[in-house]
Amino acid sequence: MLDLDYDAPAPKVIAGAQHDWELVIGLEVHAQVATSAKLFSGASTLFGAQPNSNVAFVDAGMPGMLPVINEGCVAQAVRTGLGLKAQINLRSAFDRKNYFYPDQPSGYQISQLYHPIVGEGEVLVELGDGTARRVRIERIHLEQDAGKSIHDMDPNMSFVDLNRSGVALMEIVSRPDIRSPEEAAAYVAKLRQIMRYLGTCDGNMQNGNLRADVNVSVCRPGDYERFSETGDFGHLGTRCEIKNMNSMRFIQAAIEVEARRQIALIEDGREVVQETRLYDPDRNETRSMRSKEEAHDYRYFPDPDLLPLEIEQAWVDDIAAALPELPDAKKARFIETFGLSDYDASVLTADVANAAYFEEVAQGRDGKLAANWVINELFGRLRKDGDRAIADSPISAARLGQIVALIKSDVISGKIAKDVFDIAYTQGRDPDEIVETEGLEQVTDTGAIEDAVDRIIAENPAQVEKAKQNPKLAGWFVGQTMKATGGKANPKAVNEIVARKLA
Ligand code: ADP
Ligand code: MG
Repeated sequence: MLDLDYDAPAPKVIAGAQHDWELVIGLEVHAQVATSAKLFSGASTLFGAQPNSNVAFVDAGMPGMLPVINEGCVAQAVRTGLGLKAQINLRSAFDRKNYFYPDQPSGYQISQLYHPIVGEGEVLVELGDGTARRVRIERIHLEQDAGKSIHDMDPNMSFVDLNRSGVALMEIVSRPDIRSPEEAAAYVAKLRQIMRYLGTCDGNMQNGNLRADVNVSVCRPGDYERFSETGDFGHLGTRCEIKNMNSMRFIQAAIEVEARRQIALIEDGREVVQETRLYDPDRNETRSMRSKEEAHDYRYFPDPDLLPLEIEQAWVDDIAAALPELPDAKKARFIETFGLSDYDASVLTADVANAAYFEEVAQGRDGKLAANWVINELFGRLRKDGDRAIADSPISAARLGQIVALIKSDVISGKIAKDVFDIAYTQGRDPDEIVETEGLEQVTDTGAIEDAVDRIIAENPAQVEKAKQNPKLAGWFVGQTMKATGGKANPKAVNEIVARKLA
């Protein structure tokens, strides 16, 4: 495989009242497994169903009900692990994390504390300025989601919707390798991109199927490097965890204000207390939710209803063999095969459907020209057209490819191509047919262009005199010639002929 090579980005530095500070960030991302059934029951996971309609007895915590592992969810976790170049643990186990909450009727959540299904991995996080951070993954474990308490529907009562209870989540835990708010957002975006390629998580943050707990601490410049060498957390500051973030913008804002809060505390001679905090976007501040002292004692223990999970290497190998091409590999290949810039390759591979569309346009054609047309004309048009998805594009990849071919072979100019594109897009017509029917073929016949130029020169003696004194005015003749030929003359030929005749 081709490799993408980048320098590491500089960590963000925040100037305190006394001296400079750096940020240290580690994320725990909860990704809902893309699957039709829950982790331990056959109930549906369909979003937006009637409240409490997707609930099996085991999801409602009914006594005597036994969980049965869903093989599809396990396969998705393995797939995700492989996509993050991680160690797959052939033996893992489920533990009970005990706490009562109305939307958690069994009184415990089934999770994997001691033996997660996926071990150490790595994600390349590009910052879009030619730098990238390699963020290490500590682990991924499978766990159940809880239901939802609804407090704002009735003044006197709260409601509980158990549709989400028991839905499979993958918790992806990073090492504290992230060094700025932008990196944190880019990291979540990269995870989402990889999981969408893999088909293991829809990554729809509004629907809550991708959420992040964000751990933030601050340290003096150089301390992080000392920590990296020794692994000694003593060189890092005390961290706080900001729970349940489901927007890239808020993740960044929360990290920034939380870091500033910690810096102000430390410089004031006080201490950062390790605790869980919530971000309030309206006031742009974080607030304490619970401190370590009042933290729950979850009394974890191995779930006696579930045997340890043992999977076979051959099964893992089958999943590995069937993995799709992933974003880094696709991007590197686009750069190599189609001669694209890093930026264009990033844009085109951001979404797997976009990438497939581009590839069809570019296949056997000029890759850079194809990239220009897909990114600037098509994406621009789709965006203006109510943010349409590529799947709803009124112009197919095959037809956009025809336009690229028509330009490349000089049948039409780039300018006329925009008209052809517009007609093809709005009327659903075939580009070759449009060029033919509308007579849009570029005039490359120099004789015809010369005739037009001669006529314009003869009709405008005063302009000719001016142009002879000031060669910049030749542009006027080029414009007139283009007009006279209905914009179909080859611009390069027109320029040459005008220059020659005026000389
Ligand atoms: P715990 O055992 O309390 O859950 P972990 O060591 O598992 O703590 O870390 C939980 C998360 O906190 C991880 O994502 C990790 O990267 C992050 N983290 C650990 N130490 C720090 C730190 N000093 N600053 C910021 N994040 C940190
Ligand atoms: Mg932990």
